Amino acid sequence: MASSDLVDLRSDTVTRPSAGMRRVMHDAEVGDDVFGDDPTVNRLQALLAQMLGFEAGLFMPSGTQSNLAALMAHCQRGDEVLLGQGAHTYRYEGGGAAVLGSIQPQPLENDHDGSIALERIAAAIKPDDPHFASTRLLALENTIGGRVLPLPYQHAATGLAHERGLATHLDGARLFNAAASLGVQPREVAAGFDSVSVCLSKGLGAPVGSVLLGSRELIGRAVRARKMLGGGLRQAGVLAAAGIYALEHHVARLADDHANARRLADRLRPIDALAVDGPHTNMLFVTVPEHSLAALQAFLRGHGILIMARSPTVRLVTHLDVGAAGVDRAAAAFGEFFARH
Ligand SMILES: *Cc1c(COP(=O)(O)O)cnc(C)c1O
Repeated sequence: MASSDLVDLRSDTVTRPSAGMRRVMHDAEVGDDVFGDDPTVNRLQALLAQMLGFEAGLFMPSGTQSNLAALMAHCQRGDEVLLGQGAHTYRYEGGGAAVLGSIQPQPLENDHDGSIALERIAAAIKPDDPHFASTRLLALENTIGGRVLPLPYQHAATGLAHERGLATHLDGARLFNAAASLGVQPREVAAGFDSVSVCLSKGLGAPVGSVLLGSRELIGRAVRARKMLGGGLRQAGVLAAAGIYALEHHVARLADDHANARRLADRLRPIDALAVDGPHTNMLFVTVPEHSLAALQAFLRGHGILIMARSPTVRLVTHLDVGAAGVDRAAAAFGEFFARH
């Protein structure tokens, strides 16, 4: 089956650059970005800084490295970061903050909506006492598991952190999905944070890249961390061009992904064997009877539909390479499978 016939619901990272995106990559003006000479990288960094309301931006090879460079720019060796048990930066980044940053993570329980209760944050801030690590940073994530953190919650949490002398970081890998869902400007989702990391390679559809935003001083420190982590790239303008194209063409259409997630949820909900949670922005979570999981995955694969079935609760993600027709095909295949099983 040609890759274009696949309905790949595993993640919004699977998108392939469109013809228009490939054209701007091909034509990108480039220079050595380690020397600060790449005009296209500089344009991307300035564009996002302006969009999100920060002094400076830094192009990063991945969201993982962007979060780690941010943590290293905020924290000294032996400092502590407060973050959610479910946060990508705690759970899914190989323990980099501890291993490479010498930063102690203090994970805190996320409530069902992805927030961390303010009292829990306040109680976790350690007193200035040599027994304790120095609590230095609060890191939140929006969206988290597809769920949008409410802006009043974000303002209260960042306000509390700042009052107690902590810095704040937002893992905004899918910040543009949050903004689309709330119907606000992206900079409103970034407001109150000292740094924000956004992914270009998720729903925005670029092949590679994230951007870290912050003050000029913070970004200066992050440049050193990025170099240390091996993330200094040379003629990276070919990648940054894809990011600029994504920001110009793929932000407004995120609402389509959210609509397609709703469409998929509506078509799966009548299937008795499934419990459907969501949609939350471009994701839904479908719990499948455990004994059918492997057979379902194989059946769907036979119909050109890809799911990631690591647990009976399967995350289904819509993105710019899955249209309404693909959603309908996927829902029909789920229906056919459960009619037989
Ligand atoms: C994908 C993701 C990242 C990391 O991005 P990579 O580019 O895959 O390293 C960080 N945070 C969140 C919430 C993500 O979804």
